[in-house]
Amino acid sequence: MSFSTLGLNPLILKAIGDLGYSLPTPIQAEAIPLALKGKSVIAAAQTGSGKTATFVLPILDKLAGGETQRKKRARALILTPTRELAIQVHKRIQDYAKYLDLKSMVIYGGVELAPQKQQLIEGVDIVVATPGRLRDLYTQRAIHFDEIALLVLDEADRMLDMGFIEDITKIIDSLPEERQNLMFSATLSRQVRELAKEYIPNGIHLSVTKDSQGSPDIEQWITTVDKDKKSALLSQLIQDNDWSQALIFIETKHGAAKLVTQLEKRGIQADCIHSGRAQAIREQILADFKAGKIKYLISTGISARGIDIDNLPLVINYDLPFPADEYVHRIGRTGRAGAQGQAISLVSKDDFKNLCMIESRLGHLLERREITGFVPRKAVPDSILNYVPKAKRDENGKRIVADPSLKTGSKSSSKSKLKPNFKAKPKPSSIAPTSAKSRSNANSVCQSDVSQDKPAFNPWTDSKK
Ligand code: ADP
Ligand code: MG
Repeated sequence: MSFSTLGLNPLILKAIGDLGYSLPTPIQAEAIPLALKGKSVIAAAQTGSGKTATFVLPILDKLAGGETQRKKRARALILTPTRELAIQVHKRIQDYAKYLDLKSMVIYGGVELAPQKQQLIEGVDIVVATPGRLRDLYTQRAIHFDEIALLVLDEADRMLDMGFIEDITKIIDSLPEERQNLMFSATLSRQVRELAKEYIPNGIHLSVTKDSQGSPDIEQWITTVDKDKKSALLSQLIQDNDWSQALIFIETKHGAAKLVTQLEKRGIQADCIHSGRAQAIREQILADFKAGKIKYLISTGISARGIDIDNLPLVINYDLPFPADEYVHRIGRTGRAGAQGQAISLVSKDDFKNLCMIESRLGHLLERREITGFVPRKAVPDSILNYVPKAKRDENGKRIVADPSLKTGSKSSSKSKLKPNFKAKPKPSSIAPTSAKSRSNANSVCQSDVSQDKPAFNPWTDSKK
């Protein structure tokens, strides 16, 4: 199926032709015709599958003919979890709408309110916003929602994970009831499905799981190392491989800044982004990284969700994230739009619980590779798939629960009570830890995200069921 058969405005087709898109991705082919017919859609598709164009193109098509509304009004509202993603979606709108006479703007916090208010007064068709700042502006009557005909929730799972549920529901409750809704999520968590049921009861559910040109092809492997050797190992890997670029995830802001210094001491130029840096600096660094001016970018998880970097060959997890879904999102920054990617994780004994969670989530062990000179003193054992942790606590001793609405039991459940959702679960012992190259296709990961009715098995929360 080509783009021209989807029924889009020729000026939109011209713009996507300029970008070099030849064929729609599977989610685009399925969802765009429905959206053009005015249907509400709830779509689950893996990261990097082209969801942005899936909602932006029908919006442009619908708004292209009409008039820009009165001041302080917009006709389409797109909510995204982070500023970076809002900026990126807005940039795509500008690309896709370059032959159309439509006005769009982006609204996010951490910057002055006045310019955003002024832009709203001047009139706009499409608003891309993070929920908190939008709610502020609405409360201040800087924006009215009475003309909103289209609502998009992008990265719905992430917005909920980030605690935006109250902002989102308050915003949606203030919108006209007659409107089209498009909701996108990489994973269909229980909360996402509940939100969809409540606010988009008549939505058509789509999940694109099949292998396709849009599926990430990501070679994943881990290497075990003592915690205090991680920066030396990373430096060596960088020096040995001379990768063109890498996005390196680390857990803390402090750790990010420290790692930049440690790499610099070994002659490796790197920069870091995290929520503690000024917005303008974050934007500049991200732009420089996208332009290839920065080779190694160290980032905390929050700053890079949903971010799309052309041809990023490599993601490195300097620490393993929690919860396990975060791993899937992080590695999804590479292997996008059919390109091949690599994801490497540096795993110390401290990361063992997270490794168990991730491998349980994936349903298989990750290939281990040994790097000479870095074999750890403290060995990292093989994971137990279906791992049930007793409890994970944060630095203040507070119990961390993946979904705060559910409580983990302090009693450890017996394994026989567990009902894992993943299929074809190999026994750990059947996989040689240092087996020859085995390519793990992240597509299978995402299939389990979207194809099951129940949420993916989560040992933190499911062990009590
Ligand atoms: P998602 O939101 O699903 O994670 P994005 O919308 O960010 O993915 O798209 C990922 C990448 O694929 C972007 O670089 C985008 O420009 C590109 N892309 C989207 N649709 C197509 C297409 N039909 N053909 C080629 N590239 C595409
Ligand atoms: Mg996206």
